[in-house]
Amino acid sequence: ANFRMSDLNGVINDTVLLIQRQCNRQKVHISFEAGEIPSFWFDPEKIKQALLNIIKNALEAMPHGGEILIRTVAEGTHVTLVVSDTGPGISHEDLPLIFEPFFTRKGAGTGLGLSITQRIVEEHNGRIRVESSAAAGTIFTLELPMTIVPK
Ligand code: ADP
Ligand code: MG
Repeated sequence: ANFRMSDLNGVINDTVLLIQRQCNRQKVHISFEAGEIPSFWFDPEKIKQALLNIIKNALEAMPHGGEILIRTVAEGTHVTLVVSDTGPGISHEDLPLIFEPFFTRKGAGTGLGLSITQRIVEEHNGRIRVESSAAAGTIFTLELPMTIVPK
């Protein structure tokens, strides 16, 4: 792990740039609404990986286009990072299983992405939750404590 004082919005911008071409190719519009977030203590490579796993799933759920919206907001001692998509959603039965290692609905899926994302969030003493419906798509919400000194 490589925790350091870092800029979360900068990490998210880098991640969006990395995935932008893939979004363009499949007509997925990706946007980022950055709240005002002070620098805090986290591992930028790990958070980038956690976010990429979520965005890749959104892209895989929307092969023929859609929207991905990323939003950050500082709320007291936490930052909330929301990633929503306009894909088909996750069924009620699957919802409790998606963070399990090796759970996948994809022919060639590893089922590891979200378990890794969850582990990274937990290594940051944060929380992750998901809401999903066929009508609204899928919303992942990450809450990260804005720690400013090393533990
Ligand atoms: P994988 O992508 O290899 O299947 P993940 O752990 O990344 O493994 O995701 C597990 C499962 O959760 C996926 O197979 C899919 O069924 C579901 N899922 C995750 N994100 C989304 C999403 N944004 N829209 C629809 N289904 C999703
Ligand atoms: Mg995945």
